[in-house]
Amino acid sequence: MKKTDVLIIGGSAAGMVAALTGKSAWPDKKFILVKKLKDMMVPCGIPYIFGTLDSSTQNLMPVDNMMENAGIESIVDEVVAVDKEKKTATLANGEQIQWDKLLFATGSIPVKPRWLKGKDLDNVFVIPKDKYYLDDMVAKLKGMKNLVVIGAGFIGVELSDELNKSGFNVTLVEKEPQILSLAFDIEISSRIHKIIEDRGLKVVTGNGVKEIAGDGKVEKVILENGEIIPADAVVLSMGYRPNTDMAKNSGIELDNGSFIVIDEYMRTLTPDIFAAGDCAQKRDFVTRRRTPIMLASTACAEARVAGLNLFNIHVVKTFSGTIGIYSTAIDDVGFGTAGLTEARAIQEGMAVITGIFEGVDRHPAHLPGAHKQMVKLIVAKYSGVIVGGEVIGGPSAGELTNVIGLVIENRMSVNGLLTSQIGTHPCLTASPAGYPLIKAAEIAAAKIRHI
Ligand SMILES: Cc1cc2nc3c(=O)[nH]c(=O)nc-3n(C[C@H](O)[C@H](O)[C@H](O)COP(=O)(O)OP(=O)(O)OC[C@H]3O[C@@H](n4cnc5c(N)ncnc54)[C@H](O)[C@@H]3O)c2cc1C
Repeated sequence: MKKTDVLIIGGSAAGMVAALTGKSAWPDKKFILVKKLKDMMVPCGIPYIFGTLDSSTQNLMPVDNMMENAGIESIVDEVVAVDKEKKTATLANGEQIQWDKLLFATGSIPVKPRWLKGKDLDNVFVIPKDKYYLDDMVAKLKGMKNLVVIGAGFIGVELSDELNKSGFNVTLVEKEPQILSLAFDIEISSRIHKIIEDRGLKVVTGNGVKEIAGDGKVEKVILENGEIIPADAVVLSMGYRPNTDMAKNSGIELDNGSFIVIDEYMRTLTPDIFAAGDCAQKRDFVTRRRTPIMLASTACAEARVAGLNLFNIHVVKTFSGTIGIYSTAIDDVGFGTAGLTEARAIQEGMAVITGIFEGVDRHPAHLPGAHKQMVKLIVAKYSGVIVGGEVIGGPSAGELTNVIGLVIENRMSVNGLLTSQIGTHPCLTASPAGYPLIKAAEIAAAKIRHI
């Protein structure tokens, strides 16, 4: 039987980062990583294989090379069972591996809602992180005309825009009154809505899917209000669920959402077994409630905490909670979000005030490449602590969103932020006098002073 000090199950964001961080923290230990698929996609790059990239091979992560360079053995196979008493894992090929520490990084899989009639017709697709499925899907879509994407979260929006760019006639359907409703307040989401419509996408909001109909294969989508959309294919972008059936069958404790229960060092309730990434339980950084938000950024941060603390509490650093943080771009417009939206904060019963400022990301604004840049900050009313932020602007919106993420994670207040020193340059940033992030903090601080 093969023996290892650390066995990692899954070779995407969480598995890869846990292996690399773990090996650098514990160089004398033997690490093995088992991954089901040989070719690993950059998960966040998947929408772009439908338009911008020539093929899925341009979206691969060199996981095997990275493992080899770090002295980690990488095996392509599936772990089908874990025996937590004997400390073994069984692979699909029957081989067993004895481990001292084990980490689940088995990720998540797309949801096909059980209630949805027609979900199993031919040409109904989901978006798994699986090159072979996606290559087959790309081939099947060739020659089709009318596509319906259901679900306008960021994956649905990015995918629809890419399919539209490739010449398909795309309708994006969203049950909520606005697209990207979990990520953005209406001031920003309405602008994104307009941008994608101007690019030729049809967007239906406030009207969910009732049924997908057809004789063997998709012919139409019937909406809740009875409206019918002709369709050659349907893409379900209705969320992901943690991939934890094997963990459950192996006696690892799951929560109600079927995530693996973990503590803040990413330890499960079973000694010597850890979990990180989409399969591991999440807690919101601000509200401290359980959250189903699954992001690569969170997965990598959790994986680093797990890797560092595999053999003891090596670095006293715990994972302090999920900050829903990401950014995306439609053409040259970038937008990003971090932490709570205003709507979500209100739903949570938090008293918040906001500061919104719109400026330009160059100074003077006539310089080439200048974009309008709007920042909205969401601030706890009685402490002034920043709990969320949203940005729309040029490509710099992504990094500015990351700055807001750090502000939230370090629990900065608006007063601290508005007196911060921000490096600026005419060709790269907004002006120091009208820097939208600082101005938004200034506006919020003024409102707090007048409470
Ligand atoms: C289309 C798309 C776009 C996205 N865009 C973004 C973005 O822009 N920003 C962002 O932050 N997040 C984004 N995400 C979310 C992000 O991809 C996930 O949060 C991230 O992939 C989670 O990483 P993970 O390693 O936990 O799980 P996964 O990426 O799901 O990987 C789990 C891996 O484990 C393997 N595995 C599972 N079971 C076994 C087993 N028993 N044995 C061996 N191997 C196994 C699987 O095959 C898989 O490769 C996107 C997701 C999708 C689908």
